[in-house]
Amino acid sequence: MSWDVLVVGGGVNGLLTALGLARAGRRVCLLERQALGRESSWAGGGIVSPLYPWRYPPAISALASWGQHYYPRLAEQLLRLTAVDAEVFVSGLYWLDLPDEAELKGWACEQGVELELFAGGELRNRLPALAHDYLQALYCPALANVRNPRLLKALKLAVLKQPSLVVQENTSVNRFLLGCSGIRGVETQAGPLLADKVVLTAGAWSGELLAKLGLYLPVEPVKGQMILYKCEPDYLPAMVLAEGRYAIPRRDGHVLVGSTLEHVGFDKTPTGDALASLKASAERMLPGLAQREVVGHWAGLRPGSPDGIPFIGEVPELPGLWLNCGHYRNGLVLAPASCELLKNLMLGETPIVDSAPYSPAGRLRAL
Ligand SMILES: Cc1cc2nc3c(=O)[nH]c(=O)nc-3n(C[C@H](O)[C@H](O)[C@H](O)COP(=O)(O)OP(=O)(O)OC[C@H]3O[C@@H](n4cnc5c(N)ncnc54)[C@H](O)[C@@H]3O)c2cc1C
Repeated sequence: MSWDVLVVGGGVNGLLTALGLARAGRRVCLLERQALGRESSWAGGGIVSPLYPWRYPPAISALASWGQHYYPRLAEQLLRLTAVDAEVFVSGLYWLDLPDEAELKGWACEQGVELELFAGGELRNRLPALAHDYLQALYCPALANVRNPRLLKALKLAVLKQPSLVVQENTSVNRFLLGCSGIRGVETQAGPLLADKVVLTAGAWSGELLAKLGLYLPVEPVKGQMILYKCEPDYLPAMVLAEGRYAIPRRDGHVLVGSTLEHVGFDKTPTGDALASLKASAERMLPGLAQREVVGHWAGLRPGSPDGIPFIGEVPELPGLWLNCGHYRNGLVLAPASCELLKNLMLGETPIVDSAPYSPAGRLRAL
């Protein structure tokens, strides 16, 4: 049997890619080598924003802004379709004692993003658990977080409901199949699958598959470790961020603290050093956490890419091979717009944003 599209990798980007194409009437097969949604998309913090959005190129803001507006609608659609709540929690985010406040203010003004400044007693009233020595914070009330495992569960159920979409879990793609004029399909451990178009959404592993075609894709694994606390529901009413470390409250009182940035290849073993370092950051921001137990500790592999700009579009050297990978630290917030843009390009629709910055053209090289 031949498919319209094969999607390789079932993280948030593979799931949303497959869902969008199936909803547009394409016959899609989604291939995942383990269970869907167990890698970076599961491990991430789920902040629906880059940590420091003003420090990124405009190409990131364009996708992030689209995704931020879309997430509440996506969660509503998924809730209706699957009865699973992805828990988009618009808690807002406080940047504590930022060194580049002026840059944030300038960026927010340009982007039309609302900010509020809180200091001293007012800050402590709003965040009673916060350490008392922070002087001030800039607060963005519109920022949300999404509960990754719930989002992935809802997306999995949603794709399973699509009549023109088949999911094959525990199916590893070993290589691409080539014909005279481009891609013909993929070879899996269970045999070949044919399609005119293949989309690579294999996260940190995307480069490995392209290397088999003699192409170097600059996507590298960047390990990130997180820890989890269980507090009472109102312990932390909003996300807080200081010196690259953050705490994210879920609605039920769980608080996630992250994250490390480690260049250690594909090893995702949680380590004692990272646990100690994350605990120290957590207690620096929220001293009361010293009396709480860490109830979870895990690691994931971000698909690191130059400047964090994902690869979205067709590989010019290989007609029929499309990329949607390399979302680095922002794959959750960027996923809805990335997958919509990819669909636009594949189906000849008007793109939601200028696609040029994400194009693979000129960004891959021969090995
Ligand atoms: C600690 C941490 C914190 C983060 N926090 C945030 C955050 O707050 N906000 C945010 O926006 N982003 C965050 N991120 C980044 C975000 O999680 C990633 O950018 C995003 O999940 C990437 O999604 P993906 O679908 O591209 O990749 P993945 O979720 O990694 O999915 C790739 C899938 O491809 C499969 N695969 C690989 N090779 C093959 C093969 N050969 N055959 C078949 N299947 C294959 C894998 O098994 C995997 O399921 C964080 C990441 C980490 C690790």
